[in-house]
Amino acid sequence: MRRGLLAPALLASAALALAGCSSDDDSGDDSSSGSGDSIKIGIKFDQPGLGYKDGDTYTGFDVDVATYVAGKLGYDADKIEWVQAPSANRENMLSGGQVDMIFATYSITDDRKKVVSFAGPYFVAGQDLLVAADDTSITGPEDLEGKNLCSVTGSTSAQRIKDDYASGTQLLEQPGYAECVTALTAGQVDAVTTDDIILAGLAALPANEGKVKVVGNPFSEENYGVGIPKDSDKCEDINTAIQAMVDDGTWQKLLDKNVGASGYKANEKLNPPKPAACA
Ligand code: GLU
Repeated sequence: MRRGLLAPALLASAALALAGCSSDDDSGDDSSSGSGDSIKIGIKFDQPGLGYKDGDTYTGFDVDVATYVAGKLGYDADKIEWVQAPSANRENMLSGGQVDMIFATYSITDDRKKVVSFAGPYFVAGQDLLVAADDTSITGPEDLEGKNLCSVTGSTSAQRIKDDYASGTQLLEQPGYAECVTALTAGQVDAVTTDDIILAGLAALPANEGKVKVVGNPFSEENYGVGIPKDSDKCEDINTAIQAMVDDGTWQKLLDKNVGASGYKANEKLNPPKPAACA
């Protein structure tokens, strides 16, 4: 008797679950809500506190800044499609039309400006070093002679090591900084190098706590811009949104919320930056 009642109920819920699944699968080109109303934003998926994917949840300062800016451009949060934008792929993703904007610890540089455009900057970080917690031999870039480093392909961090510290250092390149931290805790390299704000977020992960430390001696200025295709007409509107975010207190709130727990302190002489004039 019970089985007779239960079985149809189970079947019905299974059918509902299936229906739910298939309509989710269609969300990318859901014509009823108008695919033209959505926006594709490139972020990092593996940088805690900045751009981080956990299941269906995206968190971090870049994610929150992107959500604020998209809102000012007329896109509600549910119209944002988050796309992973690894360091080495960012220019190609913009010029190939895979994303409309990139918020991914993306430094504005003259080389990149040959291929893409930037709004912002909305943050200024500095290249730093992450070393083993008990390492006293590395206190800054002047101590890198004879050391093995890890950084990410296509980043300004890796490029600076090749340009300025090539003689005397070995550089291991990985697709992401999390892989570099794994190499560090496994003893395969002596230091990971990239922006201090990224290293702070990785060092604060429970799995890495007590094992690694940020040296805290930054040796570059990394101006985080909003990457847009070269022909984009969004630069002015993005800059207006960034300035509003700073003026209304949201910028500070989002920074505290996302990187406060890591103990990271933004350089107050450089932050918050003024967006530069659009080209
Ligand atoms: N900000 C630097 C860059 O844009 C390093 C961080 C990153 O790889 O995203 O290359």
